Amino acid sequence: MSEAQENRDVPIGMGSDDFSRYLMDRIKMLEERNNLLREQANKIELEKRFTEGQKLKYERELRQIKSELERLKAPPLVVGSVVDVLENGKVIIRSSTGPQFVVGSSQIINSSELVPGARVSLNYQSLAIIGVLPSSRDPYVNAMEVIDSPSTSYSDIGGLEEQIREVRETVELPLTRPEVFERIGIEPPKGVLLYGPPGTGKTLLAKAVASQTKASFIRIVGSELVQKYIGEGARLVRDLFKMAKDKSPSIIFIDELDSIGARRIDTATSGDREVQRTLMQLLSEMDGFNARGDVRIIAATNRPDILDPALLRPGRFDRFISIPMPGKEARAMILKIHSRKMKLAEDVDFDELAALTENANGSDLRAVTMEAGMFAVREERYSIIMDDFLKAIKKLTISSTKPSLHSEGMFA
Ligand code: ATP
Repeated sequence: MSEAQENRDVPIGMGSDDFSRYLMDRIKMLEERNNLLREQANKIELEKRFTEGQKLKYERELRQIKSELERLKAPPLVVGSVVDVLENGKVIIRSSTGPQFVVGSSQIINSSELVPGARVSLNYQSLAIIGVLPSSRDPYVNAMEVIDSPSTSYSDIGGLEEQIREVRETVELPLTRPEVFERIGIEPPKGVLLYGPPGTGKTLLAKAVASQTKASFIRIVGSELVQKYIGEGARLVRDLFKMAKDKSPSIIFIDELDSIGARRIDTATSGDREVQRTLMQLLSEMDGFNARGDVRIIAATNRPDILDPALLRPGRFDRFISIPMPGKEARAMILKIHSRKMKLAEDVDFDELAALTENANGSDLRAVTMEAGMFAVREERYSIIMDDFLKAIKKLTISSTKPSLHSEGMFA
């Protein structure tokens, strides 16, 4: 409303009090309008910023799509390998098709990476080196899990005190204090075999020893050796021991030993013979191996009954440690360990939970704590209550199709 308009609204013949009241009212009204307009301006400003943000986002997406399109349209790069680097900066390469060429290289390439044997990508017309490719990964390495120093500690293991003591004596002591064995004049056991039902903490125990002794942990699963690398298992075993020596002190952990170490039978198929060759290689590596050295071997199996007796002879896997299903107390401890970092309500009673999870192994119990946590998250609570655990136990037992997975008789 213009000022002229507003002046026209002033009533004629008004007293000075009335006039000032009138003016106050007008000021109030105008202030309210001013606030309203300011709010609108803020809103519009926000909308403007939002739209600008959206615009930037779409522009970015457009750029990405364009560059993706460019990339798809770009000619393929040829793969080659560096044969030699010449003094004038030129490089001799062998292209994947065979012949050798002298080519230049892009300036963005770090010259220290251009060493004979490096895999490089080449422009398909000039064959100039465009980039250095990562060295091709030995597929065998995929079968192994290598952790330079695992972070598992003995306190992460629930209820296996006796087994931890035995493993410390047989694996940790020869690594940390070999002189104790020398003094007495005995050889420490070369290989330790952990046997027991799945999910009871065998791998965990091996990792804990590796961590305690600051050793590298090299895990290999027997069945992977057999399934993927048929015909190459023996080589992999050789590589495994070589790697363990290079990375020493180290602990080799062979999981599912039964899949390569099952008793040899006469009527073997060619596949079985390959498995046997792998086993023979393992035996010979173990024989040619210094018991007091700083590579220790731990193997795990759920079927000790089918292992080849040759594996169990003295000087090979000559120490057996049984890892049983957790008892009630151990179950309570495992539940406590896995909920150590969780926020728990006061009503959570681990003893009662342990009593309710009679057939569960360590891995099941870990799943129970995770699931209980999920229930609390779902209900947006700040802590996990007993009922969450009860629901988790119910859910996992219902969804579990495992029959009596952990039949005790097998390991008697
Ligand atoms: P498998 O024979 O199937 O290889 P395993 O005996 O090696 O089984 P692990 O891999 O050690 O079992 O255990 C699986 C998971 O279960 C572990 O990562 C750990 O979280 C949990 N777990 C098992 N046993 C225990 C235990 N005694 N204390 C704490 N956690 C455990």
